[in-house]
Amino acid sequence: MNNVILELKHVSKHFALSGLRNISKVVHAMDDVSFFLNKGESLALVGESGSGKTTTASVIAGMYEKTSGEIYLDGQPVLPFKTREASLRYKKKVQMIFQDPFASLNPTHTIRSILERPFLIHKLAGSTRELEAMLCDSLEMVGLSPAKEYLHRFPHELSGGQRQRVNIARTFAVSPEIILADEPTSMLDVSIRIGIMNMMLDLKEKKHVSFLYITHDLAGARYMSTRIAVMYAGMIMEIGPTEEVIANAVHPYVQLLKASAPAPQEGVRKAAIPAKGEIPSLVHPPSGCRFHTRCPYAKKICSEEVPAMRDIGNGHFVRCVLV
Ligand code: SF4
Repeated sequence: MNNVILELKHVSKHFALSGLRNISKVVHAMDDVSFFLNKGESLALVGESGSGKTTTASVIAGMYEKTSGEIYLDGQPVLPFKTREASLRYKKKVQMIFQDPFASLNPTHTIRSILERPFLIHKLAGSTRELEAMLCDSLEMVGLSPAKEYLHRFPHELSGGQRQRVNIARTFAVSPEIILADEPTSMLDVSIRIGIMNMMLDLKEKKHVSFLYITHDLAGARYMSTRIAVMYAGMIMEIGPTEEVIANAVHPYVQLLKASAPAPQEGVRKAAIPAKGEIPSLVHPPSGCRFHTRCPYAKKICSEEVPAMRDIGNGHFVRCVLV
């Protein structure tokens, strides 16, 4: 039985920017991205700022149209939506949790008004009484209890953690099949992050949802996922079972990321392997391997050919000529 719920095949997203004297530039935000997400699985998409991970989530969410490639949901190709109904049907199945709990809630609306919107749009409640029960269940599900005490409040009357709980409640309200969680804890106080992460994992199990968990933090990815995909400059460099990728990182960039992550005990950064230079511009991405301008092992061929994704066994794939 096919267990795959979402699949991307060679998906790219390029943005055209108009500059001075109408000279246009193209940002290669995402190139040749392929991966699948199993039903009930949590896959972490990891990368530094500007690596293309948020663009990838936004393309999957239908916020941007892909430039090329194919996306399949439950084996069916996701095409540009021709009607509002088709877009709504897709968005009910694929929901996104945004990074900023402050910006993603309308400050002029009460929590009731924010939370009832998805129920009304998707016509999920048969009566006012049923809607009230659904609103209360949603808030209590994310630990905001008693719910009636939160419904009349405005976002500024809640803490950052409580706002993100409202965002999560809103996301789960429509019983989605896939949740794209874009750095959902990165703007929260460190002391409350673990509580929100545990709650998301708990809800994932209870509601049988698949998670694409987007983060720049390798430790958070390890906590939240069973598989991990690492992006650099718009391309996936390594993908595989989380523990295997973290214990035996093969791609030089992933080794660098791992070496520069804080040591869990000390909270300090260990010495990184020597990488030269800065993250490249996505307007003029490097030829060949996008990491070649920084890679300590780069050879001539690395700037000439884009390395293919190579299967090194056990569901572990790496994009590097050394493999
Ligand atoms: Fe380094 Fe070449 Fe491998 Fe790219 S392909 S990571 S430049 S060795």
